[in-house]
Amino acid sequence: MTPLTRDDLCALDADDPLAPFRARFRLPDGRIYVNGNSLGPLPRAALQALDEVVKGDWGKLGGRAWGQRDWLARASRVGARVASLIGAAPDEVIIADSTSINLYKMLMGALSLRPGRRVVLTEAGNFPTDRYIIDSVAQVAALQVRVVERPRLEEALTEEVAVVALTHVDFRSGARHDMAGLNALARHAGALTLWDLSHSAGAIEVDLAASQADLAVGCTYKFLNGGPGAPAFLYVARRHQDAIAAALPGWMGHADPFAFAAAYRPADGIARHLSGTPPILALAAMEPGIAMLEEAGIAQVAAKSARLGDLLIRLVHERLETGAIAIASPMDARQRGAQVSLRHPRAAALVAAMEAMGVIADYRPPDLIRFGLAGLYLSHGDMWEAVAALTQALKAVA
Ligand SMILES: *Cc1c(COP(=O)(O)O)cnc(C)c1O
Repeated sequence: MTPLTRDDLCALDADDPLAPFRARFRLPDGRIYVNGNSLGPLPRAALQALDEVVKGDWGKLGGRAWGQRDWLARASRVGARVASLIGAAPDEVIIADSTSINLYKMLMGALSLRPGRRVVLTEAGNFPTDRYIIDSVAQVAALQVRVVERPRLEEALTEEVAVVALTHVDFRSGARHDMAGLNALARHAGALTLWDLSHSAGAIEVDLAASQADLAVGCTYKFLNGGPGAPAFLYVARRHQDAIAAALPGWMGHADPFAFAAAYRPADGIARHLSGTPPILALAAMEPGIAMLEEAGIAQVAAKSARLGDLLIRLVHERLETGAIAIASPMDARQRGAQVSLRHPRAAALVAAMEAMGVIADYRPPDLIRFGLAGLYLSHGDMWEAVAALTQALKAVA
């Protein structure tokens, strides 16, 4: 293979049907923004959406906007749009709370569907908040947490397991689980699956329905570009919706909130997992980012992310000295999320040096540099610039 040139990458950009989306974001000034796996950039349309909901709706209508703007329906309306990006039906997803809180709700919900089973299964490398919430739920419900390394998940899926809770795409390595395979194994053992899609939604193709996932949660401020602290989503497969308990049964998940009844009665369907009042401003801000992904088509976005990752890896091999840095992500794009991680003992210094050169990646201790490769707004040329900055940075820290 002849080595890639900058012109090769420019040619790919000239042919890229997604290229026009870049201008619809306000990317941090003059920067190569490969940090969208931490916080997605600002969609320009979000500014206008916020302006409208603040000045137009809140400012003009006050509390009457709940009725006149149908504010209460927003959590399910935006949820339905997220559903279209993760292979779920519109009535299987709702926006609420944070991912951490939704993990709690879905874990407790899973236990309500599998009474008598005493074990929650997860893997050692799972994201910290997932680990903490799993431990806390286990304590509250007097369960055992079984923590294994990834290759041992299958043998650990015994019939004591109520739920196996995993993050689909690993936040460190970007390695992707075989969702359909694990769902099948869990089903065979009579256990439920709970997937954290924080690094999957809006980044890669996910098919919750076809793979027969039971429950899922995920955040909206990474690849969905929903804004800092944007509320999270949760998914309950329709086949479980009538039986699953609402773990934090607030008035907004009541069958008739405005009856102000003394006793809780769960709403039908996904709505029972709303606990309190939906964050209307945040919902307005997040909708344009999701709408752009719908417009672009998640399959196209995912295919481009995969290509960006392949190019980045190839450039690292071609442009850096052998052994200068290690690739910490799977080489096969089908086994990665929209992320490539590199490993170097001076990763923190390298990330700082790259930032000074206009390339924003991020550092995860002890030795990882993460490149978030969002297909919607990054260019192929960005991969060239990122590797060029890395080459410089390696010289600077040597
Ligand atoms: C980013 C992320 C979260 C975020 O949790 P919040 O409660 O929304 O802050 C949770 N899980 C994973 C795997 C993440 O990557």
